[in-house]
Amino acid sequence: MNDGDCIFCKIVAGELPAERVDEDGHTIAFMDINPWTRGHALVIPREHSRNLYEVGEDDLGHVAVASKRLARRMRDRFGCHGVNLLNSCEPAAWQTVFHFHVHVIPRFRDDPLRLPGSPLKAEAAELAAVAAELRD
Ligand code: 5GP
Ligand code: ZN
Repeated sequence: MNDGDCIFCKIVAGELPAERVDEDGHTIAFMDINPWTRGHALVIPREHSRNLYEVGEDDLGHVAVASKRLARRMRDRFGCHGVNLLNSCEPAAWQTVFHFHVHVIPRFRDDPLRLPGSPLKAEAAELAAVAAELRD
């Protein structure tokens, strides 16, 4: 089921324009309208889901495969030196469009992107306590 108010569903339906670069039966990929680096693209499932919490496991897999395909094409066509995959889930994690998507961002040694934070130091006991919270 697609969502009539969702801009990415409208791109899937061809009701909004986008520079499409790849498609298969389950996914489409198109250029991000405000690229972080030259070539920054988004891969989405055709089927609407809000984000990582909600996306079906099959669609998650299809998006992962399409992202790999696009990353290798970026390497071959752009000569980029690396690629970042990024997904944001909920506003606290910077999600702004609520249709699951993966950013495929070509990286160049001299590009301007920098990590937005710095890694925290953690004591072994703190890591062990957090790990215990996460285990089944
Ligand atoms: P998020 O912030 O949810 O992780 O990523 C949403 C991305 O979608 C942003 O990078 C933004 O530039 C891009 N975006 C938002 N609206 C449009 C649009 O109408 N067309 C395209 N191609 N990209 C969009
Ligand atoms: Zn949607």
